[in-house]
Order: sequence, then C-alpha cells, then structure tokens
Amino acid sequence: LANKKFHPEPTIVKVGNALIGGKDLVIMSGPCAVESREQLFETAHAIKKAGAQILRGGAYKPRTSPYAFQGLEEEGLKFMKEAREETGLAVVCEVTSLAAIEAAVKYVDMLQIGARNMQNFYLLKEAGKTGLPVLLKRGLSATIDEWLNAAEYIIAEGNPNVVLCERGIRTFETATRNTLDISAVPVIKSKSHLPIIVDPSHASGVRGYVKPLSRSAIAVGADGLMIETHPNPAIALSDGPQSLTFPQFEELCDELRPLAALM
Ligand code: PEP
Ligand code: MN
Repeated sequence: LANKKFHPEPTIVKVGNALIGGKDLVIMSGPCAVESREQLFETAHAIKKAGAQILRGGAYKPRTSPYAFQGLEEEGLKFMKEAREETGLAVVCEVTSLAAIEAAVKYVDMLQIGARNMQNFYLLKEAGKTGLPVLLKRGLSATIDEWLNAAEYIIAEGNPNVVLCERGIRTFETATRNTLDISAVPVIKSKSHLPIIVDPSHASGVRGYVKPLSRSAIAVGADGLMIETHPNPAIALSDGPQSLTFPQFEELCDELRPLAALM
C-alpha cells in the first residue's frame, strides 16, 4: 500500500489548510514540549507570522530519562486546540500510548508517532484506526524498508494519510545528535508515493546546523520541514540546544522561501 509500484501518483495529505506533498513546502514548528499556555501561544503567533502552517508541540514526551519532564498530557492537548482556534494553524502532537491517542483525537489535526515508537505495531494500528493524518518519524536505527513497513501498518487500517519524517539515524558519528540521512528523501520518493518531510532539529541537535540542513532538505525534494522553536531556548524543558529563537526562525523562513519556490 505504501509502494509506488501499485500507486504511482504522489499522495497529498491534508492537515488543516496545509497540503503536504503538494507543490508548496509545508513548515511545521513549535516547542519540543508544551510547557504552558503562554509559551505555546507565544510560539504559535510567532511561527504563524514567520509563515509556518502547522504548530507542533509535545504533550506526551518520550524522554530518555524517567526523571526528565514528561509532558503536560491532556492539559497540553487542550492548549494545542486553543492555539489552533486562536491562530487557525493546524496542530500535531506525538502520541505514545492508546490513552494518549484517545485523548489526542479530541484536540489535534494530526498524530505523530515518534522515532522510539516507529515499530510499536499496536500503536501504529491504533493510530491508523483514528483516520487522522499520521506523521511517522523514522526509528533511531530503522532501515527505509522497516520504516515503509511501519507506514504499511497504518495504511492497512484504511488510513492512507501518512507523512514520513526523516529525523536522523544513529551512526558512529558523535558531532551531531543523530546523522541526517538526506538520501532517505530521494530513496523514499523512488519507492513510495507518500510525502516526506525532514526534521533537522532532532537530526542535528544543534541550533546552528538547522539552517544548512533545511536548505539541503529542500534541495533533495522534501515536502516539508519540522523545526523546533522556543520563546527562550535557554530555559526550555526539553531540546533547548536545538531550538531556534523566533527571530532565527523568521530569518530561516525568509531565506528558505525563494529556495523552495525554485524547486
Ligand atoms: C519530537 O518530535 O519532539 C521527538 C521526540 O522526536 P523523535 O521522535 O524524532 O526523537
Ligand atoms: Mn524534541
């Protein structure tokens, strides 16, 4: 079902007013974690002004340490919905359990399956059953075939609205948090009709690399970008070092716009 051989036309996934896989580059942005109503609203307004179409924010955070901030859960989802109502942006949130899916369907436009759950087949099936668009991140050490098989689980539930997200893979290199597999974009385009976006924030873990990696993603034909932003990255409860400030994000969008128009 994810294979291009049996479905040659590219799939376009509609999320709010954004069409992912259409001719325009779709930018989703927002904080790693929803921390408060104020933080989310400030971010929503700033990313909208810069030209993003989708607000991202984590309410259920799959943290490496059990002692790190785990997310506001349903309260965070409520803030996402309010931010959507106030700004008109579509909203996407990661789900990490069936309970999270059951809550999220009431508040968001798109569900995110994170890298750590890419092969949580039970979760993939449950996300598929909701019918909501699903943003499927590549697993930390997943091959492209494993990733497409994960997409297959969602589509097999009768939900064709899957967007893939390359977010870097685990390699021997330690200079960056992960290694952005930029070749995944043309490989996916050759094997599948599904749209693919790139997340240079989690791929690099370093704010300063987000802009050059974003340019590379556009150059290889990515359908969109996911970029983490925060009103004050220095005090972010998660992923501060890779988060852009609002002026940095606005500068990034201004610079990417003409490049995306060329593609
Ligand atoms: C995220 O998007 O905040 C996240 C946790 O990403 P990943 O699953 O790619 O690590
Ligand atoms: Mn993050």
